[in-house]
Amino acid sequence: SVEKDKIFKSTCCYCGVGCGVDVTVKKNNTVTVVGDKDHPVNRGMLCSKGMNLQYTVNDVSDRLLYPQMRYNKNLPLQRVSWDDALNRTAAVFKTFIDKYGPDSVAFYASGQCLTEEYYVINKLIKGFIGSNNIDTNSRLCMSSAVTAYKMSLGEDSVPVCYDDIELADCLFVTGANPAWCHPILWRRVEAHKAAHPEVKIIIVDPRITDTCGIADLHLQLNPGTDITLNHAIGRVLIENGAIDLEFITLHAEGFDSYRELVFERTLAESALICGVDEENIRLAATYIGAAKGFLTMWTMGLNQSSVGVNKNLSLINLNLITGHIGKPGSGPFSLTGQPNAMGGREVGGLANLLPAHRDLANEEHRKEVQKFWGGTTISDKAGLTATEMFEALHDGRLKAIWILCTNPLTSLPNSRFVEEALKKAKFVVVQEVSNTVESLQYADVILPAAAWTEKEGTMTNSERRISHLNKIIDAPGEALSDAEIICMFARKMGYKGFDYANMEEIYKEHAKLTSKTNININGLDYKLLQKHNTLQWPFNKKTEMGTKRLFTNHLFYTPSKKAVIYSPSDQLNSEMPDQDYPFILTTGRVRDHWHTMSKTGKVSKLKQHTKEAFLEIHPEDAEAIKIEDNQIVIVRSRRGEVQVRAKVTTTIKKGVVFLPMHWGKILGNDLNRANNITSNLIDPLSKEPDFKFCAVQVEKFIKP
Ligand code: SF4
Repeated sequence: SVEKDKIFKSTCCYCGVGCGVDVTVKKNNTVTVVGDKDHPVNRGMLCSKGMNLQYTVNDVSDRLLYPQMRYNKNLPLQRVSWDDALNRTAAVFKTFIDKYGPDSVAFYASGQCLTEEYYVINKLIKGFIGSNNIDTNSRLCMSSAVTAYKMSLGEDSVPVCYDDIELADCLFVTGANPAWCHPILWRRVEAHKAAHPEVKIIIVDPRITDTCGIADLHLQLNPGTDITLNHAIGRVLIENGAIDLEFITLHAEGFDSYRELVFERTLAESALICGVDEENIRLAATYIGAAKGFLTMWTMGLNQSSVGVNKNLSLINLNLITGHIGKPGSGPFSLTGQPNAMGGREVGGLANLLPAHRDLANEEHRKEVQKFWGGTTISDKAGLTATEMFEALHDGRLKAIWILCTNPLTSLPNSRFVEEALKKAKFVVVQEVSNTVESLQYADVILPAAAWTEKEGTMTNSERRISHLNKIIDAPGEALSDAEIICMFARKMGYKGFDYANMEEIYKEHAKLTSKTNININGLDYKLLQKHNTLQWPFNKKTEMGTKRLFTNHLFYTPSKKAVIYSPSDQLNSEMPDQDYPFILTTGRVRDHWHTMSKTGKVSKLKQHTKEAFLEIHPEDAEAIKIEDNQIVIVRSRRGEVQVRAKVTTTIKKGVVFLPMHWGKILGNDLNRANNITSNLIDPLSKEPDFKFCAVQVEKFIKP
């Protein structure tokens, strides 16, 4: 139990902004949550989601309280002990591994796991089971940015820090709605603009969102035309002489091909493709050219695309050709979606990574990690990524999947396919906090997990800032922390090296494995993190200092130490609209909900802002198909359908419709679920799904 009326430090468990919170435990073991005034990220502020965190903690009515299991698919689940649940799971996993090989099992985890949890899952499957079948829902979030950073800068390394916001005089925000999705970060932008009205804000988005409120220029482009637009801006920057030739010559390569590429289209052609005015492209380039500090910020609009990596590369190029990287107020800044997506990548928690940003394809790296872990030979075969896992369940290559801390039936594209895959799976383990998660209905084993405030560990936010989260209250029932569950299972499998005395031992092991890498945090422990109230990697043990900004010496992590200016094609590979499916569907978020609502859906205050799913449609489109505002419509793609109310609005472009992604199965009805109809195309390099573009038809719902 915990001390009464004590204030504990923690970090908000929602988005990648990573706001600090003070959690007070009251006598009756309930908590209150306020913003941490001393925290460098939020300085005491919280957004609507963060402000209501206490309700998600205090309401345990939806919690899974004890392990459950069924002995075959026809039998109901029944309560069992931890020993029984994990003994059986270990026996089933061993059988599949012996019979079909280690690649017959997989773990599908989450950007909301703590770093220690990610670390032990990754160690278990890569280092001991001998498969790289571990992926997370971060694959749906920013794997395109990760790939593009690696290609152009040599490593998945966000070069900037939040303090660069106040030092920038031009902010280019594209494929993002931070006013709703990264609210506290956006408040810093708003305050900066209010104090310095001369600062230019350029927003690129097919929708008019709240983020556009402070824009000097909104480029309302056609969906999917981001690369064409970025190239066109690059062209005008070159024409205007607003590029940094010294930086390009000394610190970058690939400029000549890039220059050739961006001059292939005239500005008028690009403007037509993008659906924006030529003059506004010129204006954007003028703002960028005049800036001393130029910050590009982006998220899902660029990442969640079948050409997500190319979109990212085309944007990073704007920073590279202007030399706006590695200096105050400048840099390409991918806004992390989830609270610990960055931490997950630090420990190598994706199908193609090894700890500390090491490469799975590199034999030396594999040997190094294998020696450190003392387990089995690490396979050189890349593991299955998020959508590939469900394809492999479908065609029988994968026999068992262990899903933790994520809700794939609501969050993965093409939900009907995911449903079929889970039905076909031979063995499904769901390790979860809440009993509302849809995949539970397909589980053979259910393992109750501890939630935020009930376990100790660390997370890393968008700006590489690591924070320590205290265990503040006990988990209800028999729920255990994710790391404890995984270590117990590993021991049942007979593996050595999973008998940690506490979470800090896991953290120290992870930190040690980062030594001599670019994310070095060797020597960092919980005491130091608490003492400094967060630190940014890489960390210097001698000075006890973190690192605000990367590449200040303009030496990049590529073999040549130069940044690479790529020349990505602007061809789009999405499912294009046609006569039968004439609209482009794009999906996104609403202000007060998070992901699939297993937390925010519990808070009545948060449900007030947007009560149900809806379809945004332009008035001219609505009129053409005789739809009125608030009427129920059927939105259909080649994969399924959704039935929601129409929201007729001029904030969306003609020919484009928008659905929020949060709603899943509610009271047995799954017709609100946007992913019933989204496309299962993925980017060939990042394997990130194309959530922002597919062809749909819309018609009035007529009661049968
Ligand atoms: Fe939490 Fe993100 Fe809101 Fe901060 S901005 S309070 S981290 S949801």
